[in-house]
Amino acid sequence: MNNECSIVKDLLPLYAENMTSKDTAEFVKTHLEGCESCRNEYTRIKEPPAARAETTAEAAPLKAVKKKLTKKRILIAVCAALATLIVGFAAFLFFDSHPVSHAIYFDWTGSDIYPNDVIAAAGDALVKDFESLHGCKLYSFTYAGDEISKENLAYINEFGHYDECIVFESVFRSPLFGGGGWNAHEIYTWTWYLGRVYGGEWEVVQRGYA
Ligand SMILES: [Zn+2]
Repeated sequence: MNNECSIVKDLLPLYAENMTSKDTAEFVKTHLEGCESCRNEYTRIKEPPAARAETTAEAAPLKAVKKKLTKKRILIAVCAALATLIVGFAAFLFFDSHPVSHAIYFDWTGSDIYPNDVIAAAGDALVKDFESLHGCKLYSFTYAGDEISKENLAYINEFGHYDECIVFESVFRSPLFGGGGWNAHEIYTWTWYLGRVYGGEWEVVQRGYA
């Protein structure tokens, strides 16, 4: 290879892309006409990329394997994510749909007419009754106070005979997906009216919006 060939071969890639000056292009063109070696090199450069891609063609099976592996990995990842979602949602449904949980906030500010254990017994009756509200979740209930409880003794006696009355205010939510006359997943604030005869068990007489 003579010195001119060496220069021309350096210029060929630029020449092939028409990126040389006019003078250089003329020089390369003239050289190519008289030099088979450089012509061959030029022909090789001008070939379309697909024809030159012998090496990548050889790698094709490997690429296919890699592609398969990648697809498999993606599939596994998607399945794992779905499984996690399903298990998580099932766990959420299980725990959240339980009507009564440890999250219940049961509080009263004190009473002059009822000892704490009496109010607690009435609270137990409320919680037990609440379990019949399927899909609802009780968040909290609070003793409404002595005045309100005394006032409502007459009210609950419209439904039976009671000597004592306890009123609770509650916060709960309706079933996640509604149904059974409930709106889906809404907060309700019901008042609960419980009554008992002296020495008897507390029972829920009325419940609902006051
Ligand atoms: Zn040459």
